Amino acid sequence: PIVLGIESTCDETAAAIVQGRTLRSNVVASSMEEHARYGGVIPEIASRAHAEAFVPCVSKALADADLELSDVDAIAVSAGPGLAGCLAVGVSGAKALAWASGKPLYGINHVIGHIAVTQLQFGPFPKDTLALIVSGGHTSLLHVEDVARHIDVVGTTLDDAAGECFDKVARLLGFPYPGGPHIDRHAQHGDPHAIRVPQGLTQGKAGAKHPYDFSFSGVKTAVARWVEGEQAAGREIPVDDVCASLADSVATVLAKKAMRGCRQYDSDTLIVGGGFSANSQLRAKLLEFGRSNGVDVRIPELKLCTDNGAMVAMLGVNLVEAGVAPSVPDFAIDSAMPLTKVVM
Ligand code: ATP
Ligand code: MG
Ligand code: FE
Repeated sequence: PIVLGIESTCDETAAAIVQGRTLRSNVVASSMEEHARYGGVIPEIASRAHAEAFVPCVSKALADADLELSDVDAIAVSAGPGLAGCLAVGVSGAKALAWASGKPLYGINHVIGHIAVTQLQFGPFPKDTLALIVSGGHTSLLHVEDVARHIDVVGTTLDDAAGECFDKVARLLGFPYPGGPHIDRHAQHGDPHAIRVPQGLTQGKAGAKHPYDFSFSGVKTAVARWVEGEQAAGREIPVDDVCASLADSVATVLAKKAMRGCRQYDSDTLIVGGGFSANSQLRAKLLEFGRSNGVDVRIPELKLCTDNGAMVAMLGVNLVEAGVAPSVPDFAIDSAMPLTKVVM
């Protein structure tokens, strides 16, 4: 099937066409620079940017694929989770396109799209696989029985997401928003063992729902304390070493738990997705641990890690292929859409 995918959950307006497992076009417009000076995404600015970029993005995605709207089999749009005002723009626009063209419309889960997108490079999911979601808002380990129908959450963060932890430490070190990529870059020049950074919940602990839960707020606090201590003592902060030590701690605990999950669920494949999967320390650790554990680790290429329309279109293809019914015409957005819900 040919599916048009539309994305507007946060600060990227995006549209793409996927045919089967082939990416025919992929257009992304970002309002990130407009938010940078505020240190975070301003919902009102983001919503307005979506309203301006929606039609140009969809038109370009169709034109780049050499298609008309009448050529697509279905439209998919992110219905959540995300910022309500942003979701409303994309979903309203997608509903208008669906009504005008008579095409079926799927309101899909953006976060599940982050893992679905790996199929463009690695082909369909094996039946029963583990997936690690590491995005700006989520850090979860999923058991994916069937990506179109059944997903269980095996573990999740009890506080901050890994990406959030990076962004917060980055702010402390004076990097502009979003800080994750800056930590990544500095970490490449630092010593990962220079500073002791705790690995959150290595073993799971009382209060954790299951052994695969994560916790990163303590990691952030530990780094903050150390930096403040050094500043108070008048010493210069070894930024590269701080970044390398933080990145090593976070990447190690994520990779360890993902491998442990693969063993327990007897999965020889690990699907990885979300903006934080662009992190080079995490990518290296996952591939290294995958090799030594006999697990095929599937991480998207960099441009498909952060928010895009291809991930939405790819999940739409999965839903069409599985014969899942389209969303009802007046489906609602869900800014807190749970990971177990694939489609509205
Ligand atoms: P969600 O998908 O949970 O709704 P989101 O869409 O806002 O959240 P993404 O776009 O998936 O988030 O990911 C953005 C996050 O990825 C930010 O926290 C950013 O700092 C982080 N990130 C991107 N590239 C890197 C990198 N190279 N190293 C570390 N973090 C990175
Ligand atoms: Mg973004
Ligand atoms: Fe995302």
